[in-house]
Amino acid sequence: MTGYLDTTIRLLRAAVRAAVDYALPPRCPGCGVIVGADRQFCLSCWSSLDFLDGPACAACSIPLPTALPDAPVRCGACLAQPPPFDGAPAAVAYGAVARTVALRLKYGRRAGHARLMAQYMARRLRGLADEHEHEHENAGAPLLLIAVPLHRWRLWSRGFNQAALIAAELARLTGAACGPDLLVRTKATASLRGKRRRERERIVAGAFALSAAAKARVAGRHVVLVDDVHASGATLRAAARVLRRGGAARVSALTWARVVPDALMTPNIFDFADWDSDIDTERMTG
Ligand SMILES: [Zn+2]
Ligand SMILES: [Zn+2]
Repeated sequence: MTGYLDTTIRLLRAAVRAAVDYALPPRCPGCGVIVGADRQFCLSCWSSLDFLDGPACAACSIPLPTALPDAPVRCGACLAQPPPFDGAPAAVAYGAVARTVALRLKYGRRAGHARLMAQYMARRLRGLADEHEHEHENAGAPLLLIAVPLHRWRLWSRGFNQAALIAAELARLTGAACGPDLLVRTKATASLRGKRRRERERIVAGAFALSAAAKARVAGRHVVLVDDVHASGATLRAAARVLRRGGAARVSALTWARVVPDALMTPNIFDFADWDSDIDTERMTG
């Protein structure tokens, strides 16, 4: 009887989904024009995306103007102060289309956008797994995806963590392990907007902790922190430090979109106010 009911419910769900799909043709995730398939950008949006394929800093993955053959290069900021992660690649540079996609996931609860972002991030994830193969003794450590967590108040008010949705899709696409609830946000941090670097670091310091179950799972692993947007990086650095202290062999920070210097010069695009995972205007953030 239960089996019969289950089947009926499943068929009904499939019928509703088909009806909705029929009523709502696939639209470009960037601008909303009708396109040929789900999670497909129109030509104009696609060609406006910057896939950050060029040379990059070995430590923080910010694009660099030139590459040296056979030698990892670090940017000035990383030479002055090495970041607590081994690479922070992003699928695309933060720009108008990347921002729209991330906002639609965050405020529109469109789970398909998490899948779209994960599709573009999967290539970077594979790159992280292959990278440094001969440079790091812990290069072969098994990958573990951990989403940057929200504070429980924020999770409660929004109902979902966009970074966790992306991490779950990435795990599904690549077969990498995913550790939800291993990293927790213990502090509801104040807004990072408009703050100087030192102040941002102070605000997020101590905002994260490993759960009781995490120690055994994190030790010796290559942890890949997953978030939607890498803006100032203060949040990712704070989370990475906690994972390192917890015994992770390597920590990388993988995001959908990364603010890069070119984007920094476009004030209407570079609006940190949208990003509570990094920078936020709301009084108590996750
Ligand atoms: Zn478009
Ligand atoms: Zn760097």
